[in-house]
Amino acid sequence: MSTKTNAEFNVLIIDDEEEIREGSRRILTRAGYPAQTAANGQEGLDILSREAMSIVLLDLKMPGIDGMDVLKLIQESYPHILVIIITGFATVETAIEAMKKGAYDFIPKPFEPDQLRLVVNRARDTISLTRETEALEQERLRNLKDLDTEKSRLHTIVDSLPNGVLVTNSQGEAVLLNQAFINHLMLPADTESGEHITAYVADEGLRDLILDISKGRHVDFEDIPTYTFDVGRERHLMARGRPVLGEKKQCLGAVVNLVDITAMKKLDELKSEFVAKVSHELRSPLSTIHEQLALALGDMVGQLPHSDEELLSRAKEKTQGLISLIGDLLDLSRIESGSTGQDIREVSLDKVLQNICDFLETKARSKNQDLQLDIGEGDYPPLEADPTALESIFGNLITNAIQYTQDGGKIRISMDISGVNLRVRVMDNGFGIEERHLDKIFEQFFREKNSKTRYITGTGLGLPIVKNLVESLGGMIQVDSAPEQGSTFTVLLPMQNGTNRV
Ligand code: ADP
Repeated sequence: MSTKTNAEFNVLIIDDEEEIREGSRRILTRAGYPAQTAANGQEGLDILSREAMSIVLLDLKMPGIDGMDVLKLIQESYPHILVIIITGFATVETAIEAMKKGAYDFIPKPFEPDQLRLVVNRARDTISLTRETEALEQERLRNLKDLDTEKSRLHTIVDSLPNGVLVTNSQGEAVLLNQAFINHLMLPADTESGEHITAYVADEGLRDLILDISKGRHVDFEDIPTYTFDVGRERHLMARGRPVLGEKKQCLGAVVNLVDITAMKKLDELKSEFVAKVSHELRSPLSTIHEQLALALGDMVGQLPHSDEELLSRAKEKTQGLISLIGDLLDLSRIESGSTGQDIREVSLDKVLQNICDFLETKARSKNQDLQLDIGEGDYPPLEADPTALESIFGNLITNAIQYTQDGGKIRISMDISGVNLRVRVMDNGFGIEERHLDKIFEQFFREKNSKTRYITGTGLGLPIVKNLVESLGGMIQVDSAPEQGSTFTVLLPMQNGTNRV
């Protein structure tokens, strides 16, 4: 250790023999220690009461207060000071006694400078070690305090979130939950974490989902369903869960986010009600106008100038477009309000497809198209569904295939089983859809307009209706398409219907 660091260790030499006292001071000062001297115990104690010392060299045999008493007083008042006893050969035993009482070391007189440096340096090293340990302990305590503050800050943030938050471990025990979670699920205000989720979540479906995620059964985030459920009569909630993954991607538990969607649902209902009302009011006058235009055109065939006849025909066509739009809007609001899908029964999907194809055959033939249905094995289990929903799904898809395929084109409808689903493919070799539009075609009112489709009338509501209905049956729809090549719409419907997973 360098002399520079020795400067941090003040030494006090208490000895009545001036020669020893001064000699030691010189040796130690040369070694870099700030050293002071005292000629007796009292003087030493006075210095100690004024100045901080690290090491005291103490002679046991002095006039005035006894060295042993000085040692005792030092230990009581300054326990961090290391006391080295200076002793004559005759008093070695007393020195040992002093060490038993807590002195750090002893040095017999007379001593060589080296001996003194050695023993003081040893004391210095011991003090440095103690200081370092203390500093480390302080640091540890500070870190612990920081961690505590960080933890409580995190708790405050999580608690003030408007959404409910629940974190579970891999056994499905709640390790963290916030106030909103307690409020959303109407749990007692003093509910605390620590229990299994069965203690907090009454809805069985949600419980199963959280347990599945907690136990690592959903490694692929994309396939985790959003779960909607009701609490009480008036409250609608939506839960989203994600696994918490460790460093090695192992599942440690789940985080569940609970959103109150009551207001959203209410707004949605109001919007649907409004659309349904307006559509309903518009439908009768429009139908009357459409009928009267048709009558007028029929009655005056050949009597009107060509341009007038064309004008009336266009007006009739436009009113027909408006009537279909209103029909679609009414369908949509019926689906959204949940009144479609009420008439659940056992339906055989192959028969539904056969009926739709029979009905649309004339339309396809008017365009010289080849419409074929291939129901494969044919021996399928019936679906539990509302038949009008199935008619609407496949009626829309096959009508689109006919509409968006050129004269003389081919339309194939095939059916088979794929895993737990019945799979229906509606394929055409028609106009196709540009890739950039593929994820838009299921949005309300989206229509792809190009040179081929510009004159085809439509509302842009067919596919959103189809998607809504397919999902309400627990299924999914996807599309593959390329311009000028054709399109394939694939619908998967579970043979055992899913419930509220949307
Ligand atoms: P609509 O047919 O009334 O326009 P849809 O929602 O049924 O409304 O379809 C949206 C758009 O998707 C259509 O305007 C069309 O551009 C495209 N589309 C749908 N089906 C096909 C198909 N089989 N082939 C090519 N394009 C299609």
